[in-house]
Amino acid sequence: MTNYYQPEIETMPREELEKLQSERLVAQVKHVYENVKMYHDRMVEAGITPEDIHGIEDLHKLPFVTKDDLRDQYPYGMCAVPLTDCVRIQSTSGTTGRRVVAFYTQEDLDIWDECCARAIVGVGGTKDDVVHVSYGYGLFTGGPGLNGGSHRLGSLTLPMSSGNTERQIQFMTDLGSTILCCTPSYAHFLGEEIKARGLKDQLKLKAGIFGAEPWTEEMRHNIEELLGIKAYDIYGLTEIAGPGVSCECQAQAGMHIQEDHFIPEIIDPDTGEVLPDGQVGELVFSSITKKAFPLLRYRTRDLCYLTHEKCSCGRTTVRMHKPMGRSDDMIIVKGVNVFPSQIETVLLKLGYLANYMIYVDRIGTKDTIEVHVELTPEMAQDEYPDIPKREKRIVSELKSMLGIQVDVKVVPPQTIQRSEGKAIRVMDKRNLYR
Ligand code: ADP
Ligand code: ZN
Repeated sequence: MTNYYQPEIETMPREELEKLQSERLVAQVKHVYENVKMYHDRMVEAGITPEDIHGIEDLHKLPFVTKDDLRDQYPYGMCAVPLTDCVRIQSTSGTTGRRVVAFYTQEDLDIWDECCARAIVGVGGTKDDVVHVSYGYGLFTGGPGLNGGSHRLGSLTLPMSSGNTERQIQFMTDLGSTILCCTPSYAHFLGEEIKARGLKDQLKLKAGIFGAEPWTEEMRHNIEELLGIKAYDIYGLTEIAGPGVSCECQAQAGMHIQEDHFIPEIIDPDTGEVLPDGQVGELVFSSITKKAFPLLRYRTRDLCYLTHEKCSCGRTTVRMHKPMGRSDDMIIVKGVNVFPSQIETVLLKLGYLANYMIYVDRIGTKDTIEVHVELTPEMAQDEYPDIPKREKRIVSELKSMLGIQVDVKVVPPQTIQRSEGKAIRVMDKRNLYR
């Protein structure tokens, strides 16, 4: 078996890294051409064979793969090895439609563990840490991914899974968890609970690895404040591996992509043209080592940009900027593109916490959008919380951010449902009419 435990790759000179990527890409193209009918047929249609792919410079010649392709090929169509060689499945959360099932060989799992181990090391973790994993376990990749990474590193792993906040806080304080892994919305929720109970002083937490959903810089500051930690972003998707495809280092300036396993590209979502560093577009990944579920040029629908600039941490791998949302997260209201993250930025800036819900509807031919936001417990204690004035202020800030009129309702604390996994921020009732 190839030894993939190679953290030194993260600081390899670019030339060497690209040579390695090229070798792996050439082998991967051959593997999919021979073992996945859809790839074979697409490549024949495009008039290319594996011999046309000599290295990463030829990546652009390959056809794209979309989420719809994966849904069409459900369940076994994209599996590139005999089922007897597979040892695990995981599945997407189904945030945007039918779930996708991904397969893993033992070697695929080893690589994924390695990526998550690198993520923990990247935020300053060592085998002496107590890694508290509050991502969901099961089909969702969050729990199994960070669990595997923590084991690989040799840290004491607390496989908490999500939910049961009481027990989370008890274990966290009793066992002295030092690194918390969960969704940012759940971290925020735990932070609020810990604050309400006055337990912050009893925590040993120093860092958090938060991902699986978009979150803003303002949210990062709030979580850091509430838990007294450094909060790091981690990104991944089931189709490519799971969490650990990329993770921030201690510079907190974009997520380093594990490029020896995943080659990123940013494309113009309309034309498919590859865009240069710094330009926002759709993130596309090619997984060059995965055997059971190898995807080439997979369109993630996540919007972000890349930078090859040197990072102060010494890693030479490319960094991706925090995805601002998915192209399919975007809601078009009154003809204007709106991302929940824009609304979140405004609310947090005005001192609210990230407890909000966006309701979109259509009355006749007119779109309506209403944002509900909770008062913080402190605001609610105020003798004159002056709700109408608060609402007016938010409406005006949202108008200047989005350019449209948004209705706002400020509601009492603890009235908007919390999520233990991925946060649900939008209720678009217009979908019901489709
Ligand atoms: P689903 O697509 O059903 O949610 P996954 O559970 O595999 O399935 O989630 C992967 C998606 O989660 C990514 O494509 C991305 O949209 C989102 N995501 C994961 N990590 C982050 C992150 N750190 N920031 C923003 N979005 C993220
Ligand atoms: Zn770095």
